[in-house]
Amino acid sequence: MNITPFTRFRFVNAYFVQEDDGVTLVDTTMNAAEKLIAAAPGTIRRIALTHGHGDHVGSLDELKKRLPDVEVLMPEVDAQIHAGEREKTGGSWPKLATKPDVRLQAGDRVGSLEVVASPGHTPGHVAFLDTRDRALIAGDVFTSFGRVEVTNHFYPRFPFAAMVTWDKERDLESARALRALEPTVLLVGHGPVVHDPATAIDAAVARAG
Ligand SMILES: [Zn+2]
Repeated sequence: MNITPFTRFRFVNAYFVQEDDGVTLVDTTMNAAEKLIAAAPGTIRRIALTHGHGDHVGSLDELKKRLPDVEVLMPEVDAQIHAGEREKTGGSWPKLATKPDVRLQAGDRVGSLEVVASPGHTPGHVAFLDTRDRALIAGDVFTSFGRVEVTNHFYPRFPFAAMVTWDKERDLESARALRALEPTVLLVGHGPVVHDPATAIDAAVARAG
């Protein structure tokens, strides 16, 4: 796998994706710019975000200050929310000074990653599929504390993600769509790495439906 997890406060994940020209950072956790730069296995060239919630964009402004040349990529619809072009949904949408250089669309490529639409948790939520080995960064469509769960329903081991999910039906549809990608590894915003996740995702989708 070309992806290394970075965990903050034991429950918020970002991911370093190794590319030929350096590192793509997916999500930023919170108040972690210095730690992220120190932990990165190379120069951070770009920051790609799964969605606009505060626990994912929380270090963005500080990172941009320290790495002014870094390219910032945010999913189109969540970028609209941050720009005030569209109404906020549930969860925290902190004011950002950083404007994304790129508004991501489904099918876009970010280095080796393919952008996959996965709306529901937020209206613009995306996942990133590593085309080299089908490792999948699924953001907050799933959590994996204890077991894999879809964020469309309350789960006591990690209730926060479900509490701020915008559209439960679309979130479940996205969970099914991500399962259909046949990921070899599941990497989520909150919870540990899950290898060979097919069975765990099937069970999660069955419980969620
Ligand atoms: Zn979220």
